[in-house]
Amino acid sequence: MEKTYVMLKPDCYKRGLIGEIISRIEKKGYQITNIKMLTLNEEILKEHYSHLADKPFFSEIINFMTSGPVVGMIVEGESVIEGIRILMGATKWHDALPGTIRGDFANNTTENLIHGSDSRETAEIEIKRFFGEF
Ligand code: UDP
Ligand code: MG
Repeated sequence: MEKTYVMLKPDCYKRGLIGEIISRIEKKGYQITNIKMLTLNEEILKEHYSHLADKPFFSEIINFMTSGPVVGMIVEGESVIEGIRILMGATKWHDALPGTIRGDFANNTTENLIHGSDSRETAEIEIKRFFGEF
C-alpha cells in the first residue's frame, strides 16, 4: 500500500467540482484516509512549489493558490501515486487527454484543478507538510 498527497485547488472549489473529483478518486478504488479544507499562506506555498521558484509564472501560481480554499487529502491504495497522476492528466491543459480530470475540466495550465505527489519521496514530504505526520 502506498500513500499520496492530493490537493484540490481553489478553481475546484469555485467551480463546484470538489464532489466530482473526489468521486473519481473513490470510484477508482482509492481510499481517502484524511481530508481537510484549508486556506494556504504564501510561506507554505513557496515551500511546496520551490521546484518552480525560478519560473516566470511562479507569482501567478502563488496568487492563484491563495485565492480561495483548497481541499487537502491523504489517499491510499496500491500504486496510488502513479494512479492519481494518471487520473489527473498532463500538467499542460492542452496535453491532458479527455477522460482525465484536467483533460475533461481544465482550459488553463495554472488553474488545473488538482495536485498529486509525483514520487514516494515527495508524497512523504507533502503529507508531513500539510498533515504534520506521515
Ligand atoms: N504550472 C503553471 N505553468 C506551467 C507549469 C506549471 O502554471 O507551465 C503550475 C500548475 O498549476 C501546475 C503547478 O504549477 O500544476 C506545479 O507544476 P508541476 O510541474 O509540478 O506540475 P504538476 O505536478 O501539478 O502536474
Ligand atoms: Mg508537481
